[in-house]
Amino acid sequence: MAWTEVYNWQLGRNMAYPHEGAWPEWQFVFVFNINRCIACQTCTMACKSTWTFSKGQEYMWWNNVETKPYGGYPQFWDYKTLELLERVNPGGQVWDARPQIKGQERPYGVYEGMTLFEGAKKWYGESGHKRVLGYLPYDEEWRFPNIYEDTAATTAEGKPGQWYGEDAASELPEHQTWFFYLQRLCNHCTYPACLAACPRNAIYKRPEDGVVLIDQERCRGYRKCVEACPYKKPMYRATTRVSEKCIACYPRLEGHDPHITPTGAPIETRCMTACVGKIRMQGFVRVDTQTGRWIEDRYNPLYYLIRVAKVALPLYPQFGTEPNGYYIPPRWAPRPYLRQMFGPGVDEAIEKYVAPDRELLAVLQLFRAAQHIIYRYEIKEGPKVYETVHPVTGKKWEMYNDTVIGYDRDGREIIRQTVEEPKYVRPKVHYNSI
Ligand code: SF4
Ligand code: SF4
Repeated sequence: MAWTEVYNWQLGRNMAYPHEGAWPEWQFVFVFNINRCIACQTCTMACKSTWTFSKGQEYMWWNNVETKPYGGYPQFWDYKTLELLERVNPGGQVWDARPQIKGQERPYGVYEGMTLFEGAKKWYGESGHKRVLGYLPYDEEWRFPNIYEDTAATTAEGKPGQWYGEDAASELPEHQTWFFYLQRLCNHCTYPACLAACPRNAIYKRPEDGVVLIDQERCRGYRKCVEACPYKKPMYRATTRVSEKCIACYPRLEGHDPHITPTGAPIETRCMTACVGKIRMQGFVRVDTQTGRWIEDRYNPLYYLIRVAKVALPLYPQFGTEPNGYYIPPRWAPRPYLRQMFGPGVDEAIEKYVAPDRELLAVLQLFRAAQHIIYRYEIKEGPKVYETVHPVTGKKWEMYNDTVIGYDRDGREIIRQTVEEPKYVRPKVHYNSI
């Protein structure tokens, strides 16, 4: 397959891609609010008990939640991939994020470093045997899906071995002792590395929703996708000798289950709907099928969070696959570490999240409010219920009890929430359950 030039809006520039670019009408997208995750793993088990409970799938966790900075499944997947970029382009992974560079089509500025595709082109040549920089994890790296759970790092740089002292341990804006949970699944990338690397053309991106699937009939288990995917989300199954990956619960997206989607309206995936911490929202954004650019859709909650409020950021955008999973970064973790993981939009995202404006606060209420996919929201204004002044910055913050309403694909109202959460007072009756 020939190399093509494609526009990657997350990088703010054109990029070489070792496959033709083809864009769906709608793109599967999700936003995770890291600040709210409690690592209960309900999402992980909802996925496992639905799709990967059979023989040969024992080590497969299409959805996993790992503890950063040390945890990873497979172990050290991100550091190993970052290291590959550094080896091919030492010190070059930088962004030009000056305000005059940023714009609607370049919300994070311009990435001046190399992507995993460009790195492979430099290292192996245009017709080389590798089209993506990658590596095949060792068997033991897949063995522990939640290794280093709740293990904290002790420096602001995220490097172990230096202790800053207890008094500095829990002071915002950044904790000196820190960890956070990273929720992961296949990002159903716009420029999938797995797809570009497959010599059998067994991987395809669905034109209707951008979901990336492996054709189980065509796959011969070469594991080129496992090697190429920087997020390590395709997994090899030894019992069938083919690779498998997250299928975005597509029967649910299609609204084909007569029991849970009797109206035929799309509903969210299993991992999203099971989320106890209410950190997840999943849906679709509209895409221009000729250029791959997102079509403005101001009142789509996902479009709003990512492109208007800019509180949700892509995971390792520098890899170049234009992943469609977005994260509201954890406000207490060191900024250099977060910028490496989510790009230069981190500071703006955290600033907006810690003191959300009226619209953002209302839209945040929609997380996990309904099983149906929300295509549009509307806000009805309510009274001011609270105000405060930040003790350090002196900035005033006001809270309004607005009502946010969510609509499904067919324009039906599916959720109505107020910003103020209801409070329940138990009756004065004393039970004893011993
Ligand atoms: S996350 Fe990996 S497996 Fe999923 S689409 Fe992107 S490159 Fe392919
Ligand atoms: S279910 Fe939600 S809160 Fe629990 S681990 Fe998964 S993402 Fe985090």
